[in-house]
Order: sequence, then C-alpha cells, then structure tokens
Amino acid sequence: MALTITPIPAFNDNYIWALHNAEGQVYVVDPGDANPVKAWLAQSRLTLAGILITHHHKDHTGGLDDLLALVPVPVYGPAGGHIRQLDHLLQEGDRITVLGHAFDVMETPGHTLDHIVYFHPGQDDGADHPPLLFCGDTLFAGGCGRIFEGDPPMMYNSLQRLAALPGTTRVFCAHEYTLANLAFATAADPDNDALAQRQVSERSKRDRQRPTLPSTMSLELRTNPFLRCHSPSLQATVQQRVSQKLDTGLELFTALRRLKDQS
Ligand SMILES: [Zn+2]
Repeated sequence: MALTITPIPAFNDNYIWALHNAEGQVYVVDPGDANPVKAWLAQSRLTLAGILITHHHKDHTGGLDDLLALVPVPVYGPAGGHIRQLDHLLQEGDRITVLGHAFDVMETPGHTLDHIVYFHPGQDDGADHPPLLFCGDTLFAGGCGRIFEGDPPMMYNSLQRLAALPGTTRVFCAHEYTLANLAFATAADPDNDALAQRQVSERSKRDRQRPTLPSTMSLELRTNPFLRCHSPSLQATVQQRVSQKLDTGLELFTALRRLKDQS
C-alpha cells in the first residue's frame, strides 16, 4: 500500500510534507512551525506518528517542541549535535521504517554540514509505488540550496549522488522556489527546450495556487542547471557571463552557485 503524501504550506514558501497511510497515521518532514501541522491534523482527523528532520535550520525544526508537547512521537534526524529533540540519530547508510516503508539515509552536506536526505527505493509491485526522496534544502526544483556551512565540492558531490538516483524518483523539496529558480536557470541555459517548456507548465501551476512539487529526478536532470554541469551549452553561457574558463563540472557548478547567490 503506497503512502499518501500531502504538502502542508508553512511560512512564506516552506512545505512540511505529510506522509500518511490508510490507517490514518502521519509522519511529517521538517516541521518548522507546529501550527499549520496541528490545524491540518485536526482537519484531516489523522494522528501524528513520527517526525523526520533533514537539517538543523529553524524553519525545519522550530515546531518540534509544540508538536512533541501535543503528542510524544519518535523524532529522526541527523547526528550532528544541533537538534536536542532527536531521539533517533541518523547517519549515512542507516535504514529506517516509516509507516511500513523503508527509507535509506544519505548524508548530503553543503547547505549545512549535518544535512541528510531520506530515500525510499520504491517497489515494483504493479501499483503506483515510485521511489521517493525527501531532500530538504539540498536539491530544489530547478535549483539547489545555498552553501551555508559546507563548500562547493561538498555540495557538488551531494547533488551528484542525488542525480544518480532513479529518474522516476519523486523529489519532495522543502521550499517553493521553483519559478525563481527556473528564471535563473533559463538565463544560464537559454537553449534548453525542456527548461522552456517546464517554465510554462510550472507557471501555470502557480497561477492556480498549486505546488510545483513534487518534481521528478528525470525532470531535474533535464532542466536543473546545478545537475547539468556537464552540458557544453550551459558551460559556454556561464563562461561568457563570468569571463572565465570553466574546465570541470565542479568549476562550472561553483561559478553557477555564485551567480545565483548574487541574483
Ligand atoms: Zn536550511
């Protein structure tokens, strides 16, 4: 039985992803604010059963105390020493079970040093049961997280690992940054037809107040410049913009991330 996954909007542009099963049990990912989660639980008559955390930033953890006061549930997150409410400390290679579904933990440092992601490999059971990735602030639709604590090689490596996951993987990011990311992406990769098409379709979702997420890994591989640092046309455009020769994927990634930070 597949999980149902619902976005609970929080703050200006966060999504707290809720994973629920047919028995009405819920796990939430990165509850930065307890109030929208509580309201959603009450309205949908579901019971909180656990919490997953990707990294220590306040907009991903700020709701923990209030939710745990309401109902004490297990809290899984990175063993980085920053998050005192965790009772399951996770690291690379760990496997946890969420509502009967196995999730693998991958360390993806860069945005923060403690950043982890949760990957469910999916099942070939004939039902709609694709791989799932909860990637916090590492990978965004059409973009990637800012590098606050790590360095470009670290972030580049983390993103390369995510890019190697199956193309059918549903990608659940923690922010609705898609349109701004795609505007930047189009300037950097103007000849990419898949990107131009995506911009139209995502804009129409936002016009109807719908989330652009989840994405899929195959769509990211075709349209997200931070996963396309092997592309000669992207390389040519970015080299011209920074007036510098960028010989490796890492050099291109580093220049691209710097341009995005300045945009
Ligand atoms: Zn963050």
